[in-house]
Amino acid sequence: MKTQVGVQAMMAKCPVCGGEVNVPDDALPGELVEHECGITLEVVVDGDLVGLKPLEGVREDWGE
Ligand SMILES: [Zn+2]
Repeated sequence: MKTQVGVQAMMAKCPVCGGEVNVPDDALPGELVEHECGITLEVVVDGDLVGLKPLEGVREDWGE
């Protein structure tokens, strides 16, 4: 049984539901990825690590 270790996509964890999220290899910081749980996630890159943060509370909050 062969194991292919490719770098085509990175697996990241959804911070909301904990499920796996497929992040494209060429994802750029700030790129938005929709997850199956319904949340929109923003790609954050820190060195070699790719993470995700929920894109929520992005409302403009200029102290209404
Ligand atoms: Zn999710």
